[in-house]
Amino acid sequence: ANEARVVLSARDLRRDFGGFTAVNNVNLDVHHARVHALIGPNGAGKTTVFNLLTKFLQPTSGTITLLGHDITKTPPANVARMGLVRSFQISAVFPHLTVLENVRVALQRPGGLAIQFWRSMNTLDSLNDRAMELLKSVGLEKDGDSYAADLSYGRKRVLEIATTLSLDPKVLLLDEPMAGMGQEDVGRVAEIIREVARSRAVLMVEHNLKVVADLCDHITVLQRGEILAEGNYDTVSNDERVRVAYMGT
Ligand code: ADP
Repeated sequence: ANEARVVLSARDLRRDFGGFTAVNNVNLDVHHARVHALIGPNGAGKTTVFNLLTKFLQPTSGTITLLGHDITKTPPANVARMGLVRSFQISAVFPHLTVLENVRVALQRPGGLAIQFWRSMNTLDSLNDRAMELLKSVGLEKDGDSYAADLSYGRKRVLEIATTLSLDPKVLLLDEPMAGMGQEDVGRVAEIIREVARSRAVLMVEHNLKVVADLCDHITVLQRGEILAEGNYDTVSNDERVRVAYMGT
């Protein structure tokens, strides 16, 4: 029953830009311990949905619920503090700090674990321990002393995920986490996301359909701002409308 718990949901979500409706009638249920993909052609509204869920954009109408709380009118910083965190863009990784230092900085951010648990985290040792633990959880423990600037592109993205995990999110939103990666890094990051999703919900925008097929438990297909289909990969990929609209077959 715990596995099927809905942690984030949107009801009748709509967003207009002037006279243009970018997102319409969107109902979304994101579950604990599942990897949920949001897919669809360019301009389908994926980014707008992410911006609405994180409250960077205010919905024109509809409601959003996070862990049982109505967050429709909640400011983005509070939403993040409540456990809905979007992966930081690569620019949020400080290139001239080491990998370990990057994670330590992240832990000490407002909302970071070091601040949440300051009583037990107020020595440098415990901060380092927690940072190493986080690096281990994403397979970067051997890179702790490397400058972030010297990491491969794939490892930089993994470091970005590690810094995001320092906020201990309950729902993690990932924006094309594998974009621009080689096959080997894609596999690594897929494993990390799978591991991360054991104890939280993951909602990701992803274009690589093989990744979606292999990794994602549930898929929502957007087209022109509306939900075209949803279900597991088999259901969605066999849907006639999805094949015509999205996969072009
Ligand atoms: P996707 O991420 O799926 O490519 P977007 O959410 O970025 O799609 O965009 C959905 C539609 O909304 C597009 O037609 C886009 O041009 C439009 N749109 C997005 N943001 C704005 C904005 N700030 N002002 C006007 N139109 C926007």
